Amino acid sequence: MVTSGERALLRDSLYPTHWALWQRPPRWIAVTLVAMGIAAGWAGYATLTQPTTAWHLRIFALITAVAIAQTEISRRLERQRRSLADGPHVNMVSVWLLPAGVLLPAQLVALLSVTLYVYLAFRSWSGTRPGEAHRVAANITTATLSGCAAGLVVVASPGLTVVTVGAAALVHFTVNTLLTGLGLYLANPAKASVESCLGGMDDNLLELATLCVGGLLVMVLTQEPLLAVLVILPLYVLQRSVLIKRLEELATTDQKTQLLNATTWQEGAQREISRAERETGSFGTLMIDLDHFKHINDTYGHLAGDDVLKAVAAVVKQETRAHDLVGRFGGEEFVALLPSTSKEDAIVTAERIRQRISELVVPTLTNEGKSVTIERRTASIGVAAFPLDGVSIEEVMAAADAAVYAAKDGGRNRVVGSVPVPALAAVA
Ligand code: GH3
Ligand code: MG
Ligand code: MG
Repeated sequence: MVTSGERALLRDSLYPTHWALWQRPPRWIAVTLVAMGIAAGWAGYATLTQPTTAWHLRIFALITAVAIAQTEISRRLERQRRSLADGPHVNMVSVWLLPAGVLLPAQLVALLSVTLYVYLAFRSWSGTRPGEAHRVAANITTATLSGCAAGLVVVASPGLTVVTVGAAALVHFTVNTLLTGLGLYLANPAKASVESCLGGMDDNLLELATLCVGGLLVMVLTQEPLLAVLVILPLYVLQRSVLIKRLEELATTDQKTQLLNATTWQEGAQREISRAERETGSFGTLMIDLDHFKHINDTYGHLAGDDVLKAVAAVVKQETRAHDLVGRFGGEEFVALLPSTSKEDAIVTAERIRQRISELVVPTLTNEGKSVTIERRTASIGVAAFPLDGVSIEEVMAAADAAVYAAKDGGRNRVVGSVPVPALAAVA
């Protein structure tokens, strides 16, 4: 059934002046149109110079059929993955485009990209907002150019060896990553970071895994084409495991700051208590509360406030060790648990964090879209330790919280170590 979103997409597509494309940044539009021109030119030139043989058509038909079967089987997974993605979404189309690029002329690579992306847009991504046609077109362009670039490696080498296919996969990966990254950068240069444009480690590993399956598919298609159906199940399992990992991440991390969420932090802290008890060890905890944070929201808006929260989270992460537990407790409160650390050492870390927060310079936008720079913000930090200030996580955190209040009372922008309760100190 055609949804109202799809009807609107079709309607708007018929009127070039309605295209949402024109609302994109001018440089994005320019680069995308040039890339589209190159992809179309490449396919057009190949149509005139490279004959399409019956074998090409059979391989094209087989790749398309298996790809569509795979898309149908993993439709629900793919939709969920897409809705839960928090950055560039690796859609695994490369598994089909690499073999197409290596084995088929450019016109069929372009035709496969168009077929798969239009199919995905209507089947797996339904809910694709009207006006997103230009994104689909940009994806088609990237896929076509990556596939065709991989094909160049084969043209330049004597035969289909493991080295040729490996090199073609690497060229595909590089062109795909760079074009996608450039598009993401030009879409919003102010917010762009290396990770947001080029993807994280997991995204890139998934793309490489997809290309490995694509490389195997090249060999299968040249030897025993019908065996291509064997990739459907492994791909499904790969997609499912990626979705499960993403769900785990969502369940354990705070989405705004990527720190542990309160529940996961508490669970980790509980494990640390058990370990410290077993080993008669100690640990320090930091409770970090930003000063007059409400003022930032009131002056510049919530989105600017969020950018400050992200910047502070990054500082706390950078100033602690990989095995320290860093979490976001509530609105503008962060917690850190430093295993095997004395209270004195925890105070030194807290002082370093306080200093770094006071030096932060955060470029951001107001609710009205005006550029502003937020700086000279401060935080009050309370420090408490196990077992000096408490023998349960609740007691230690209550002590750290009381120290935060003392820091606020003392004038803010300071670190205060909790004063041990005498009875507990005696136990310690
Ligand atoms: P103090 O120095 O006493 O800690 O003052 P404060 O303004 O930091 O503290 P208060 O508890 O009065 O205000 C905390 C503010 O944090 C209020 C709330 O709007 C804001 N806040 C909570 N969560 C978020 C969030 O996720 N994003 C943004 N932008 N603001 C948040
Ligand atoms: Mg607070
Ligand atoms: Mg505060």
